[in-house]
Amino acid sequence: MANLFEVRGLKKYFPVGTNLQFVNLKMFHFQMKQRVFTKEEEWVRAVDGVSFKVDDREVFGLVGESGCGKTTIGRLIVKLMEPTEGDIYLDGKNIVKLSKNELKDFRKNVGMIFQDPYDSLNPRFTILESVKEPLDIHRIGEREDRIKKVVSILKEVGLNPEKSFLKRYPHELSGGQRQRVAIARTLIVNPKMVIADEPCSMLDVSIRAETMKMMIKLKEEFGLSILYITHDISEARNVTDSMAVMYLGKIVESGRTDDIIENPSHPYSKALISVVPDIDPDIKRGKIELLGGVPSSSNIPKGCRFNPRCPYAMDICREKEPDYIRVEKDHIASCHLL
Ligand code: SF4
Repeated sequence: MANLFEVRGLKKYFPVGTNLQFVNLKMFHFQMKQRVFTKEEEWVRAVDGVSFKVDDREVFGLVGESGCGKTTIGRLIVKLMEPTEGDIYLDGKNIVKLSKNELKDFRKNVGMIFQDPYDSLNPRFTILESVKEPLDIHRIGEREDRIKKVVSILKEVGLNPEKSFLKRYPHELSGGQRQRVAIARTLIVNPKMVIADEPCSMLDVSIRAETMKMMIKLKEEFGLSILYITHDISEARNVTDSMAVMYLGKIVESGRTDDIIENPSHPYSKALISVVPDIDPDIKRGKIELLGGVPSSSNIPKGCRFNPRCPYAMDICREKEPDYIRVEKDHIASCHLL
């Protein structure tokens, strides 16, 4: 499969104010010391040098606890914010700097499904108006064709009878139906790639599996690539072909999903997998319990950023950041144990 999409060395730092510090200065005439204030800026390193590739028609997962930077990556990709550093390629073209016209084209090719469908649905628009709007913006088809296309895509996402939804408003639908409408709105312009940010996490458990299945079916039918962002590694296991496990703004392990689930190499991936209820006990052997909570992204630990929570931390882990090591083909992890 060819790479459709690639992220290289992506960083996003947010300023969180300044620290005032005392510094001793020598006054050159009198050799006396004076204490003055200097400012030292503090940054939240939300995304701290992330690289990955997504193949054509692949579902690639970004997995990790909240605050690990995965949602920020999604928002950087759809250009809701600008990166501090790094490059993002779609079909070989760097999309970090785009002209107004190129940006419009880009928005047609890359869509986003949000965790809360209300983020993409205007409460004052009927379902017809909401789903048709991207066709209006991109001037695709005549009015009648657009309405036919809306009806057909509502059917594709499982809203039956499809015509009964056209004049309804988002608040008249269930959470699962609203998410299907949001997915229909994203897919109606035939994007090449979709960023799905926790698309099932606000849905009832009873309809999550159904929604995941529908997304895989739509991926096949529309020939899509999907970047699937989730905090739930068991959800990633069901939906994704490959995945990257993130911790405090960095990828700690990536590879084919089956390889990571069956043979996790990084202690953090092992810990996430060890608490998934329906994974083979042989795979979960040697359950790992994480120590403490996630540190702040404005105060990332020295050395391996996972060291304060890692039950295997050694002296070197507190000094040196581990490099990425190839565990097997397409499977890498960063840990001094490897
Ligand atoms: Fe644990 Fe050290 Fe590996 Fe980091 S490098 S995951 S602290 S063993």
